[in-house]
Amino acid sequence: MSFSILIADDSEIIREVLERTIRMTQISFDKIHKAANGSEALTILNDQWVDIVFTDIHMPIMGGIELIKTMRKSPELNDTPVVVISTEGSSARIEELKSLDIKGYLRKPFTPESIRDTLTGILGVT
Ligand SMILES: [Mg+2]
Repeated sequence: MSFSILIADDSEIIREVLERTIRMTQISFDKIHKAANGSEALTILNDQWVDIVFTDIHMPIMGGIELIKTMRKSPELNDTPVVVISTEGSSARIEELKSLDIKGYLRKPFTPESIRDTLTGILGVT
């Protein structure tokens, strides 16, 4: 089975490192979409099937929190699993993220193991 993933981060370097890290896992992805902000992410999500979204919090134009809130209001995107990858780890922020029903939260710098474990857990593959 092959999956599709969307990476939203305003840092091109992080997008590239994350894509490479995802490709290093044994999980087969036929499409790795990339967006520089939440608005670009929504355009892709409204147009393409995506199995899982990895998103940053702090991005220009539209950040990760607004992206997730918009997805939660959309019948088509409400069930799409979201994992937040951010430098921010305040307990208030983590509580807010929990209330948005995210599937995972990873602190930057992430490790290849944490990416792989997150993907296998959510996609139900080994
Ligand atoms: Mg950022």
